[in-house]
Amino acid sequence: MNPRIGIAGITGRMGQALVQEVAAAGAVVAGGIGRPGRGGDFPDISALAAACDIVIDFTQASTVAGHAAALAAAKTPWVLGTTGFSGADEAAIAAAAQKIPVLAAANFSPGVNLVLALAERLGAALPAASYDAEILEMHHRQKVDAPSGTALALGRAVAAGRGVTLENVMKSGRDGQTGPRATGEIGFAALRGGQIVGSHELTFTAAAEQIGLTHHAFDRRVFAMGAVRAALWLHGRPPGFYTMRDVLGL
Ligand code: NAD
Repeated sequence: MNPRIGIAGITGRMGQALVQEVAAAGAVVAGGIGRPGRGGDFPDISALAAACDIVIDFTQASTVAGHAAALAAAKTPWVLGTTGFSGADEAAIAAAAQKIPVLAAANFSPGVNLVLALAERLGAALPAASYDAEILEMHHRQKVDAPSGTALALGRAVAAGRGVTLENVMKSGRDGQTGPRATGEIGFAALRGGQIVGSHELTFTAAAEQIGLTHHAFDRRVFAMGAVRAALWLHGRPPGFYTMRDVLGL
């Protein structure tokens, strides 16, 4: 039977794209929630969870810990697209994944997930001592977190390839008297403007060559289609933490 899909953040940009793509995939939109008192079909996440088979969640970082607890209590599987959450939120997500299937991705586009896999391979192949890794992202002017979740995922992929932890080598937003670039650093720069859906560029620059991976999302439908594909894949799986790599077999 086609699963009933609940949408957390249904009044938002991604929520509206999800309504279209859930229907296009032949699944049922069970309704959704927005910011408390600002629209949606249910009063809160628990009521939504009780009325559907799976929740797709594109809201705001401040909701993540509460949604993790509510969905685990309701035993409702969770596809999480919200970005910008903290280490404490990550622990809440991991705790929920003990009880329900959880699939989280900073970016649901199949192309970006392929780029992430390639970024890890390049990180492993290109020595940090001679190839400087830098990540540039640009998004629409309404975006509230920086660097983007996808930029951070790219940094984590390079760091994993290099056998280091991103937090130990990350350099975000250079400004003023920064001093020279440290060897092994992974640098981030964030641009904001207009209605850019999402652009990311990862470069490895050495003395005599530069290698780059670039991805441009032209339409947020690409994220919505990926999230619906993830939801249909997740439906019926055992509790655990999954990623788009599992869905795409990367
Ligand atoms: P948006 O501001 O247009 O929509 C946010 C939605 O969340 C709205 O419906 C709002 O009412 C709801 N919301 C906010 N606070 C809430 C709360 N406390 N309880 C319930 N609902 C709440 O934002 P958007 O552009 O749709 O992006 C939403 C999130 O998805 C952001 O974190 C963004 O970075 C992320 N995103 C992820 C991907 C991906 O592929 N993983 C792609 C695009 C956007």
